[in-house]
Amino acid sequence: MSFPVDKLPHVGTTIFSVMSQLATEHKAINLGQGFPTFPVDSLLIDLVTKAMKDGHNQYAPMPGVPILRQRIAEKLMRRNGVHYDWQSEITITAGASQALFTAIGSLIQKGDEVVLFGPAYDCYAPAIALNGGVVKWVDLHYPDFSLDQTALQAAITSRTKLIILNNPHNPSGKVWKKEELDLIAKVVLENNLFIISDEVYEHIVFDGQVHYSMMEYPELRDRLMLTFSFGKTFHATGWKLGYAISPKDWMTSFRKQHQFNVFTCNSAFQYAIADYMSDLTLYDSISPMYQAKRDLLLSYMHHPLLEMIPTSGTYFQLMRFKGDSSLSDTQLAEEWVANQGVALIPTSVFYNDFSDNRVFRICFAKEDHELIAAAEKLNSLH
Ligand code: PMP
Ligand code: GLN
Repeated sequence: MSFPVDKLPHVGTTIFSVMSQLATEHKAINLGQGFPTFPVDSLLIDLVTKAMKDGHNQYAPMPGVPILRQRIAEKLMRRNGVHYDWQSEITITAGASQALFTAIGSLIQKGDEVVLFGPAYDCYAPAIALNGGVVKWVDLHYPDFSLDQTALQAAITSRTKLIILNNPHNPSGKVWKKEELDLIAKVVLENNLFIISDEVYEHIVFDGQVHYSMMEYPELRDRLMLTFSFGKTFHATGWKLGYAISPKDWMTSFRKQHQFNVFTCNSAFQYAIADYMSDLTLYDSISPMYQAKRDLLLSYMHHPLLEMIPTSGTYFQLMRFKGDSSLSDTQLAEEWVANQGVALIPTSVFYNDFSDNRVFRICFAKEDHELIAAAEKLNSLH
């Protein structure tokens, strides 16, 4: 007998798992799934060992270890100039993924409409569907991924409850412009909506651009939840730790679900990160490090049919294939992982209608030698 229920009939295995599996099978360089291949800071590793030896091996309090939440509140005050109460407004989660799933689950009810900007990172739409919500897609203009004001306004109805923003943006590498954020803030307020701002790449911004966080709009405070990822910021995606911040009322509702979903997250890593975070200059080297990797990759890419689309943030670079081919981007990615030995992510998967511009996402959070070797393999494409 086959299992009788499929609550996500249009969803398969994520493209990240699919491409990583193919990369392993073909012994290809994996520039697909977004994770660093260089090591985590040895100081942070030592702090984890220390936390375990100090006996932090049992359940942490449900919302997270107090010292870590205090450090986050300090960081929010010193870097963003905003006050969040560590006791009632900050919760440590199993990565940003769980924060997002719980944030959506704590708000969305049957029939609620949620605006997503396409292309969108793949975890939002399934969480909306599982809660009975309906996605209203607003596609960003290709190829500069700018926001179409008219399309945003047209997507809002009396049933709209929430807008989900991702800034800096995966997969495009876009850092949203202040005018675009002003517009989104205005639409949220005028229509009495909520907003979730997924800012996991807040510390990866290039070429002197500025990442404006939605938390810097005081008028949105009552209706805003933000999600962050220690995995992304500290190059340790496998640790699956992140956090959510929001006003107290929303966080109370969030924690009702969090307590039965994961209850709490692993304690030793939380203590270690709290210790590590006491140095607030840590973040300053992240963007230059990734910008150098982006530039290294770009300096090695010189195939006439592979056009690089500018990226301003995240550790992703888009590449357009200009050649003649009857294959879809997904088929091309499958062919290249086997024949060129490089795994990339086809971006049609991030669109509701699978828009295929033959654009691929390259992750450059990799060792320099891998970037150079991958560029050479891509340059040999014919
Ligand atoms: N949001 C975006 C935009 C992402 O790219 C990712 C992947 N890291 C996540 C959320 C999930 O983050 P985490 O690995 O901390 O669950
Ligand atoms: N966020 C990562 C990416 O965009 C993948 C995380 C995952 O595999 N779920 O590649």
